[in-house]
Amino acid sequence: MEKIASPQGTKDLLNKYPFVFQKKFGQNFLIDTHVLNKIIDAAEITKEDCVLEIGPGIGSVTEELIEHAGKVIAVEIDKQLIPILEEQFGQKENFRLIHQDILKVDLKKLIEEESPNKRIKVVANLPYYITTPIIMHLLENELPIESITIMVQKEVADRLSSPPGNKQYGAITVAVNYYAKPYLVANVPRNCFMPRPNVDSAVLRLTLNETSGVEVNNRAQLFKIIKASFLQRRKTLLNALAANADLGLPKEELKTLLEDSHVGASTRGETLSLQEFARLSDYIDAFRTQKKS
Ligand code: SAM
Repeated sequence: MEKIASPQGTKDLLNKYPFVFQKKFGQNFLIDTHVLNKIIDAAEITKEDCVLEIGPGIGSVTEELIEHAGKVIAVEIDKQLIPILEEQFGQKENFRLIHQDILKVDLKKLIEEESPNKRIKVVANLPYYITTPIIMHLLENELPIESITIMVQKEVADRLSSPPGNKQYGAITVAVNYYAKPYLVANVPRNCFMPRPNVDSAVLRLTLNETSGVEVNNRAQLFKIIKASFLQRRKTLLNALAANADLGLPKEELKTLLEDSHVGASTRGETLSLQEFARLSDYIDAFRTQKKS
C-alpha cells in the first residue's frame, strides 16, 4: 500500500471520495514521504507521547503519527474530511478525531483529559491563512505543550527564526522567542504539495520553555513595548515609543529610561533582543511604580 503522503497514495484516496478542495481552509496536502519523515524525526515522537495534530486533511501526516505515537488527537474543520479520516483510522485505538475549528477548541480541557500527566506535542502542516493566530493561540494560553513542529510558509519560518537586526526580525519573532526556542528544520519546495501552492514552505520546530525564558514584571507591558517598537521600525526607539499613545510616556522621561536601562535612545527596536526589551520594560515598570507612590 502506498503511503497517503505520496502522489499516488493521495490520488488513490481522493478518487474514492467526492472531495472538493476548499481554498478557504488552506488545503495543500503533503505528497512527499521524505518531508514527512523529517517532520516525524524533528518532532521526536515516541510511544510515550500524546500528539495533537491540527488539520489532518486526508491523513498524510496522521498515518505516520498513529504509527509512532501513543495517542493522536486530530482536529479538522472541514466536514468533508471527517468520513475519510474515520474510514482510514477509525479502527485505530490510539486515534481520536474532533470535527472543530482549532481556535474554538477548549485545549486546556482537552489536554487535561487526554494527557493528564504529560505535556503534549503538537504537529501540523498548518493552513497558511491562520498560521500566526494558531501559533499565538498555542503559546499564549499556558497550555502543557512540550513542542510544536509545524509546516509554515517559508517567509514565516524565516521571520520566526530570525536573529535581531535582520530584515525579517519582527514583533512576532520576539513574542515567539518569549515562549519558545525556534529551530528551522528544513525548507520544503512547493511541489511537495497537492494542489501546488504559490509559495515555498519550511518545517519549523518550536521547543517551549518550561518556564518563560525571560523574567519580566509586567508581561502585558512588555508586549505593548515590543508592538510599539516595530510599528514604526524606521524610527529610533525613543521616537517610536514616544509616539505611542498606548504607552503614555513623555519623551523626556522615556529618554532617561532608555539610557538608564542601557538600551539607548537612538537604537532601533529591530536590533533589540528579547532580553533587552524585557530590561527596558522592567525599568519602565519600576519608574511607573515609583511615580505612583
Ligand atoms: N495535514 C494535511 C497534510 O499535511 O496533507 C493537511 C494540511 S492542509 C495545509 C491544512 C488542513 O487544516 C486542511 O485539512 C484544512 O481543512 C485544515 N484546517 C483549516 N483551518 C482549520 C481550522 N481553523 N481548524 C482545524 N483545521 C483547519
